[in-house]
Amino acid sequence: MTALVGLWLVATEVLRRPVATSDPYPHLCGVTHHGTRSGTPYRYSGRDCAACHHQLTGGPKTSAAPTAPKMRTIGDT
Ligand SMILES: [Zn+2]
Repeated sequence: MTALVGLWLVATEVLRRPVATSDPYPHLCGVTHHGTRSGTPYRYSGRDCAACHHQLTGGPKTSAAPTAPKMRTIGDT
């Protein structure tokens, strides 16, 4: 079992289950979600879906992963 490092927040809310950032972003296309404040239903289409976009375009052109911030002390400039 891998450690949970983070959650895809929108996917977690829309799919109503934890979606770890260590997993590929899931398809949200075809899912209807009700706005948390307005209650208005919204149906995600392919153009709203990051997974569909990734499949069509091959994903981001850079593979640079975010890095942890550097530790700095008060004397550093
Ligand atoms: Zn999709």
